[in-house]
Amino acid sequence: MNISAFQMFISYKSVNSRDWDVIVAGGGTAGAVAGIAAARSGARVLVVEAQGSLGGTGTNAWVTPLMRNVSAGENLNRGLTEEIKARLRERGDGARDAGGNDNWFNPEGLKFVLDDLLTDAGGEVLFHTQVVRPLMEGGKITALVVHNKGGLQALRAGCFIDATGDADVALLAGVPCHAGDEEGVHQAMSLRFTLAGVDTARLAGFLRENGQGQESPDFLHFWMVWDRNSSLEPLFRQAVEDGTLLERDGDYFQAFSVPGRPGELSFNCPRLRADLNDGADPWVLSAAQLDGRRAIERLTRFCRAFLPGCEHAFIGVVAPMVGVRETRRIVGEYTLTVEDILDCAKFPDSICKNHYPVDIHSVKGGAKLLHERDGTAPYFAKDAYHEIPFRCLVPQGVSNLLVPGRAASSTFEAQSSIRVQQNCHSMGEAAGIAATWAAREHGGEVRAVDVDALRAELRQRGGSV
Ligand SMILES: Cc1cc2nc3c(=O)[nH]c(=O)nc-3n(C[C@H](O)[C@H](O)[C@H](O)COP(=O)(O)OP(=O)(O)OC[C@H]3O[C@@H](n4cnc5c(N)ncnc54)[C@H](O)[C@@H]3O)c2cc1C
Repeated sequence: MNISAFQMFISYKSVNSRDWDVIVAGGGTAGAVAGIAAARSGARVLVVEAQGSLGGTGTNAWVTPLMRNVSAGENLNRGLTEEIKARLRERGDGARDAGGNDNWFNPEGLKFVLDDLLTDAGGEVLFHTQVVRPLMEGGKITALVVHNKGGLQALRAGCFIDATGDADVALLAGVPCHAGDEEGVHQAMSLRFTLAGVDTARLAGFLRENGQGQESPDFLHFWMVWDRNSSLEPLFRQAVEDGTLLERDGDYFQAFSVPGRPGELSFNCPRLRADLNDGADPWVLSAAQLDGRRAIERLTRFCRAFLPGCEHAFIGVVAPMVGVRETRRIVGEYTLTVEDILDCAKFPDSICKNHYPVDIHSVKGGAKLLHERDGTAPYFAKDAYHEIPFRCLVPQGVSNLLVPGRAASSTFEAQSSIRVQQNCHSMGEAAGIAATWAAREHGGEVRAVDVDALRAELRQRGGSV
């Protein structure tokens, strides 16, 4: 069946009889928050999520902790992200360390927090449902075709939010997209996991004695990357030589404590095989799961044999979702660049402040961008930050769609900076409010939203814009 025949089939047979103001495709880091913000703005909102829980990469890819995004000692993301952190702490699933970093959290706890925040605000969610494609009338989306155990059906709304991380909806709505760097190569993917049954006090002592100081056994953070002067590098070299690890297992190794899960460590690795970097390709994703699980077994053997305190450790969690750092990025009304980041660009339609660095996990070698202006650009001032304009969420060519999160309009380099979770929360919050207003007051037109009023509303809700 060609696409138009397929489109006719589902649009004639299975249009859901209900209408929503806002439908959010993807209930992940940005999408869950967008749904909550929309519901709190009075929208009839539905979040459509492929997995069985909200939170996306922050829950189902087990990416923890939140990366710090501070300037002059102040958190730059507030509003809903602060409320989420407070709720996590109340449950014992979040923590603030002695240095004031309040970004430690338990991904399993976050699932419960997001469920409550969305449903308490009156939002609805449809889990285990894949968004297949938008139905279009001119430059406007009328419905999303979804697939689940009920088959195919079309769900209608006035305004849509594509928070799939991969710009799935935007791409098929005809929005121009970029993917990867100038050669189309994406950042490395990782399959995250945890080790439970760790004697963290012993491990902390060992790490301290070996040049990786730790605040306490409750807030462990240790790492090894080849040729970066990690004190653990000799152990990795030995493990490669005796066949416990492969050379590439040392390309990126990092572990963190998780609040509410004593004796358990969350690993920001293994980094997956370099050729497996396109997270929007289902065949690549499948190969990535296999590659990742094999690497997790090697790393587990390594930790048991080489890290005191891990002798009796066992695999606690293997993340259900592969960790995908970057796939497609929309071309929006504004495209954020690395120059904007270095120059601390400010915008009249700012909806988020960022000072997280350019952080490219390159499959071509090297982890960060070394820029010729390192050290001299405004970015390096103590109180520096740049802003993300609302226009980065507004895709070219479609009138009633917003795209918050890692697929927002930015260059490959700039995306590697703005993609961290708290920025996705802030973008999601702005998108949720704006989509509600667009649906309720402007026939879905996102460009008709009064951005000054949106910024005032974000501030009213505790935001820092
Ligand atoms: C390995 C790794 C480590 C990282 N480390 C950190 C870190 O330490 N701290 C930090 O703050 N950030 C970190 N990041 C970045 C950050 O976690 C992500 O950029 C961010 O979570 C992305 O949010 P998002 O909302 O754009 O996408 P996601 O959170 O991935 O949400 C997308 C959601 O859409 C759903 N979905 C996708 N397609 C469809 C579809 N067609 N139909 C229905 N649902 C769909 C997915 O199931 C998912 O729930 C890391 C990322 C990775 C991959």
